[in-house]
Amino acid sequence: AQEHGNAAQEERIFVSIRVRPLNEKEKARHDVSDWECISGNTIRFKNAEPRSLSMDTYTFGKVFGEKCNTKQVYEQGIKEVALSVVRGVNSSIFAYGQTSSGKTHTMAGITEYAIRDIYEYIEKHKDREFVVKFSAMEIYNEAVRDLLNSGATSLRLLDDPEKGTVVEKLTEETLTERRQLQHLLQICSAERTTEETAMNETSSRSHQILRLTVESNPSDYVDTARSGALVASVNFVDLAGSERASQALSAGTRFREGSHINRSLLTLGTVIRKLSKGRNEHVPYRDSKLTRILQNSLGGNARTAIICTISPARSQVEQSRNTLLFASCAK
Ligand code: ADP
Ligand code: MG
Repeated sequence: AQEHGNAAQEERIFVSIRVRPLNEKEKARHDVSDWECISGNTIRFKNAEPRSLSMDTYTFGKVFGEKCNTKQVYEQGIKEVALSVVRGVNSSIFAYGQTSSGKTHTMAGITEYAIRDIYEYIEKHKDREFVVKFSAMEIYNEAVRDLLNSGATSLRLLDDPEKGTVVEKLTEETLTERRQLQHLLQICSAERTTEETAMNETSSRSHQILRLTVESNPSDYVDTARSGALVASVNFVDLAGSERASQALSAGTRFREGSHINRSLLTLGTVIRKLSKGRNEHVPYRDSKLTRILQNSLGGNARTAIICTISPARSQVEQSRNTLLFASCAK
């Protein structure tokens, strides 16, 4: 049992890397692709000097090169984490990386595939009764906004003795059919787009959390020691761009207060690093809004996956290295 426990612990944070293709802007300025993906789990800087070669080779759970599609990224590692929600296990799936490295592109696809599979599971298990709920929020400057109720002001976080941290007055839509979700996802993405044009660069500084909660009644095959309904959430988290905080994050420097750095992103980095070490150290969940909201879906019994996205461009190599160093600390 002990052995099994350790194995599960090791897998608790699944880290994958995704390199997007060069974009038009990069091509137009004759930027070149400098990263090479080898055998599905290693990424290497192509033009490294021999002496620094070992420093520029990184190995992870999975590495996806420029030609891979989102479906592959989803199927190889993420799917299993997302589907744990139907077994009553909480999870968080993050996209981490500098602005324009492909976080939103990747998360949008991942969310869609996960929803499809969760509903497929529900439809196959007619013996159980399922209730699916959806909520969506954004954290900007440590203020929490309801993406399904744009008129609402900043939401407060409350400590519930049973549920842990809850977001007060957050809209939670109970879904009667899958089609509703498509509509809600469109509302969220429109909400973010409008805001992007209104406030310059907001999206690169804000975190978006899309949360699907699945409740189901117990059935025969569910562990009989557990009584009552199974309830769990899967959180799809599109993080703020890592560029401003990347040095502190990759170097593991302690969080320092400052207007230009993102408290939630830095605290998440510290939390992830502590969880990946697996020691019984104090984990500072309460230091930021993001980590407070996700506390029940990080660590403990919860499953965590991080997709780190990078640009292949030579001009972005420093940012890409910082992302890979962060990813190395998380695995
Ligand atoms: P981020 O959310 O990290 O700022 P985006 O997801 O918005 O970055 O990606 C920036 C641009 O690059 C978008 O136009 C997006 O469609 C494109 N893009 C990102 N990743 C890929 C990919 N793997 N394949 C093709 N295009 C991509
Ligand atoms: Mg984005």
